[in-house]
Amino acid sequence: MDCLFCKIASGDIPAKKVFEDEVAIAIHDINPQAPVHLLVLPRKHIASLAHMHSPDEDRTLLGNLLASVNRIAAEQLLIHGYRIVINTGSDGGQTVNHLHFHLLGGRGMEWPPG
Ligand code: 5GP
Ligand code: ZN
Repeated sequence: MDCLFCKIASGDIPAKKVFEDEVAIAIHDINPQAPVHLLVLPRKHIASLAHMHSPDEDRTLLGNLLASVNRIAAEQLLIHGYRIVINTGSDGGQTVNHLHFHLLGGRGMEWPPG
């Protein structure tokens, strides 16, 4: 499959990995928007949050991913908090069609987002 994040997850394309387990990897975003800007993505190809295949399996997967995000945030010493963003579809600003969580931290975030 011609998917950038599948290739990163399989190691075909290099990335700065900070975490990996059997279901997910976390990498540094190539164009960071905060002092800490990581992408947490499942190894399994799911195009977006709007493209869940089998609800039960993917619900478990999403729960595991969120638990990993929180663990990674602690490892990154984001003791004052952080933001998780899941851009979904074109209106959501998604540019890579493989589900991923942005983990942003290290500065105060603004609201509303652009
Ligand atoms: P989206 O816009 O789909 O929510 O987020 C995609 C993110 O992937 C963007 O923040 C972009 O900077 C990042 N990105 C795009 N290409 C690469 C790449 O080749 N390597 C890494 N590490 N990040 C990438
Ligand atoms: Zn993929």
